[in-house]
Amino acid sequence: MSITTAPSTPVTLPRDRSDLVVVGAGIVGLAHAVEAVRRGLRVTVVERDRRPVGASVRNFGHCCVTAQRGELLDLATRSRTGWLDAAARAGLWAPEAGALVVARSATELAVLEELREERGTDAVRLRTRDEVGDALGRPADERGDLAGGALLPADLRVNPREAAPRIAAWLAEQPGVRVLWGTNVTGVESGTVHTSRGPVHGDQVLVCVGHDLDRLYPREAEAHGIERCRLSMARVEAPAAFRTDAAVLTATSMLRYDAFTATPSAAALRDEVIGHSAELLDIGANVMFTRLPDGTVLVGDSHAYDTTEIPFQDEAVPALLLREVARVLGVRDVRVTERWQGVYASSARGPLLVRDLAPGVRALSVTSGVGMTLSFGLAAATFDGTLRATA
Ligand SMILES: Cc1cc2nc3c(=O)[nH]c(=O)nc-3n(C[C@H](O)[C@H](O)[C@H](O)COP(=O)(O)OP(=O)(O)OC[C@H]3O[C@@H](n4cnc5c(N)ncnc54)[C@H](O)[C@@H]3O)c2cc1C
Repeated sequence: MSITTAPSTPVTLPRDRSDLVVVGAGIVGLAHAVEAVRRGLRVTVVERDRRPVGASVRNFGHCCVTAQRGELLDLATRSRTGWLDAAARAGLWAPEAGALVVARSATELAVLEELREERGTDAVRLRTRDEVGDALGRPADERGDLAGGALLPADLRVNPREAAPRIAAWLAEQPGVRVLWGTNVTGVESGTVHTSRGPVHGDQVLVCVGHDLDRLYPREAEAHGIERCRLSMARVEAPAAFRTDAAVLTATSMLRYDAFTATPSAAALRDEVIGHSAELLDIGANVMFTRLPDGTVLVGDSHAYDTTEIPFQDEAVPALLLREVARVLGVRDVRVTERWQGVYASSARGPLLVRDLAPGVRALSVTSGVGMTLSFGLAAATFDGTLRATA
């Protein structure tokens, strides 16, 4: 499927003021624009590219609610409601399919059982080997390596290829909303956004440029220790029997999300994975996959951190990931139809950067790789004043 939202006509800058100018048409900026429209505000979205091509279209489309903890769990839970509302308005595919965590050892199962103890049986539903095997489409006599698993029903799925473009297209149809494509923002001050096409005026300005915050605000990005996290991704043809719309997570996923790493058995799980698959940890793997509505499957991912991303992709990295995905699916190999690298903002200092830069000017970047999950929750919190600037 391809959705083009770029206008064929030249961009004309608005002369009048908006209540809000959003810089960046990724999911964080767009979620804020949707929330602003819900509150009756006039909004202008300014995006340098001709359609969304950033992290928001390169990801798994997994709104990963249950694996969060603390403030992020609250934001993710709020975001879930916002996603469903936006999906209804913009006509998005957003099945409430949950996430299926596949366990292939007693230790992996112990982590899931401990999470169920903490969150309750509604939030974490343990699954038998055969239930997991059925979801993965594995023949009944080829499930010996599976121990069981858990369904996390609060998680949502969207199609990352369509979500941001379609939300942007929906926004552009709303009264009082303008989406300016192909318009690079070069600087921001209170009330005015300077662009490659001239100034755009608004009472409030939200800068939602993800990892490119360092281009506009290098000092703030450095102070927060923002790096670019580079991820290896692929799209594959799925085995015919693989049908679940749930996001499928594995042991390496459990080592990356706070809800799992806080369980008593997480340390033993790390030791176990080091013992049998140290090479996956070396590439920062989170072996997971999600099925798109056309039946193909997004698979990934690895994590490599640097302030400027290395453009060269070591073929050994996707090879390792694909081998592991094939193992979970119980097939010899998977046929790749597309590969790409994703980049998102990351920081060891905290999962969010929220900075008030001047009166009426705020920068907001998700620096933890869960921007799809949090976007609509962040937008709701921004407008009700509960999203505080981070230190
Ligand atoms: C491979 C991969 C897998 C992921 N999987 C998940 C997942 O399953 N679940 C999840 O919750 N999160 C996931 N993430 C993280 C998530 O995708 C990001 O956190 C989120 O998309 C960030 O959204 P954003 O709007 O901040 O950034 P972006 O989508 O990168 O958007 C920023 C926008 O700002 C624009 N921009 C930048 N500078 C300027 C400028 N000067 N002027 C005008 N426009 C500008 C860019 O062109 C871009 O369109 C994943 C990320 C990747 C890369």
